[in-house]
Amino acid sequence: RFITLLHNVKNNYTRKELVQGKKITFSRQELKAALANDEFTMHYQPQIDIASGKVRSIEALVRWQHPHLGLVYPDEFISLIEGFGLIDELTSSVLSAACEDLKQFKVYQPQLNLSVNVTSDNIVSLAFPELLKNISDENNIKPNDITLELTESAVMGHLTSSLDVLSRLRMKGFHLSIDDFGTGYSSLQQLYQAPFNELKIDRTFTSKMLVDNEAMVIVKICIMLGKMLNMKTLAEGVENEEILNELKQLGCDYAQGYFVSKPLSFNQFSEWLLSQ
Ligand code: C2E
Ligand code: MG
Ligand code: MG
Ligand code: MG
Repeated sequence: RFITLLHNVKNNYTRKELVQGKKITFSRQELKAALANDEFTMHYQPQIDIASGKVRSIEALVRWQHPHLGLVYPDEFISLIEGFGLIDELTSSVLSAACEDLKQFKVYQPQLNLSVNVTSDNIVSLAFPELLKNISDENNIKPNDITLELTESAVMGHLTSSLDVLSRLRMKGFHLSIDDFGTGYSSLQQLYQAPFNELKIDRTFTSKMLVDNEAMVIVKICIMLGKMLNMKTLAEGVENEEILNELKQLGCDYAQGYFVSKPLSFNQFSEWLLSQ
């Protein structure tokens, strides 16, 4: 921590900013250079099929291997990247890196799928579906093996134009998942209008479901909603075995969280996969 602090000071971040714990902010040039220099790296977190206990998919989670600050997490830079108009570039490089890695993982687990996070700015462009299709084609990965995770606010931002892009993505064979379900706004409106295949229950509900009756009710309703709307349900933030067992009882399809595994580097995940 001290060394990071020294680096920060060297890089002209004021001591006051750091002491106050303010978020460090990055310039467009810095982020553009990071993309050009390939400083973004992927971690993978398994999503298991609850009934069989087997891994079915991995979520690609981006990190920035910053030359001075060490590993920087997406919450620190995704919205900046969006603001600077660089998000299509990031999403493309994430998808292409993840497809390349998926090919290696498929040697051990041929059925393995991939989930990639997509933001609201990605789905305004009518060229976006074709862009993703080209990347998956180049890597010989079928769109059918790829799920795009969108947060609720991503869709609600510009509902009519995004619905067009979403249905084009579906027509190309990509699956769509509604991420952090229950924390955005107008969730039901989106389920009603957009062609989602999967509902991802937010971890605020999953993590409290055994200690808080309201959280439990919400989890149950999400699972029921998923079943009745013919969607798969995935619970995120599963941190212990009791929660996993309860989700199994409730008929939830998939689980992701620290109890199964933390997000892992390429090498760590390869080892994890071999140990399964
Ligand atoms: P998300 O898509 O909801 O991803 C799940 C986040 O929850 C990850 O944080 C993961 O490390 C964390 N998590 C997983 N299991 C547990 C658990 O059991 N307990 C707790 N407390 N946390 C858990 P991470 O990697 O920091 O990512 C944060 C967010 O950044 C993601 O939320 C996603 O919205 C965004 N993000 C990550 N990678 C990308 C990317 O490549 N592109 C875009 N556009 N956004 C990304
Ligand atoms: Mg996600
Ligand atoms: Mg989520
Ligand atoms: Mg989340």
